[in-house]
Amino acid sequence: MDENEVIVKNLRETRYCNGLSCPRCGGIAVKRNGTYRPKNSPGKRQRYLCNDCHKTFGELAFSPLAGTHYPGKWTEYFGCMVQNMSLRKSAKLLDISLSTAFIWRHKILTALQQSPLPALTGGVEQGKSEIQPSEEDSKSAKGIKARNDGDEAPKQGVNRQQCLKQWTRQFHGVSRKYFDHYLFWFLFVDFKHSIPLNDLKLAFMRESFKTPVKLKACQFRPCLNVTG
Ligand SMILES: [Zn+2]
Repeated sequence: MDENEVIVKNLRETRYCNGLSCPRCGGIAVKRNGTYRPKNSPGKRQRYLCNDCHKTFGELAFSPLAGTHYPGKWTEYFGCMVQNMSLRKSAKLLDISLSTAFIWRHKILTALQQSPLPALTGGVEQGKSEIQPSEEDSKSAKGIKARNDGDEAPKQGVNRQQCLKQWTRQFHGVSRKYFDHYLFWFLFVDFKHSIPLNDLKLAFMRESFKTPVKLKACQFRPCLNVTG
């Protein structure tokens, strides 16, 4: 089993750690329904049938990796992201188009928004606009803070707003529309910055895979000049 297959197995176990359920309706009356082999993938994937909504789903359904044409490149792409690599550099490294790199980035970030992350305190200035943390983000922050009372307290003293402003400068032309996506990415990497790169990459993958989210490439329309 190659590295990617091991990771996919790990992701699957993370998502279904509380038992198998349908990513569409949440029903637990689910049974195996044959296997399939995705394009360009060395391994077979299990397909399931939900007895509640009567639809089938694959084990990567409703994740950033669903329907991918490049199953072998995603692990490395997550690695590019946790290193804050630009789209251009990531696309060159993985031999994918700039537009594919953009779509993958936003699929991952959209999925990641389902995860609990620490919140910024107060608004974040971005150009002339001011962005307040979402209600969900604030709620999630309380959960994180409670769990990490001891070791997180000193880090809250760091001015995260300044860090975020500096951090986004490397992605030239972050659109207002996508700024919330970048906020979650920054918080994730910033919050877990002390763990080794490989562990961070896997944690990033697991988080983006944990909660089923319907992601269509067409919902992420890259700007003509993708520079970030
Ligand atoms: Zn269902």
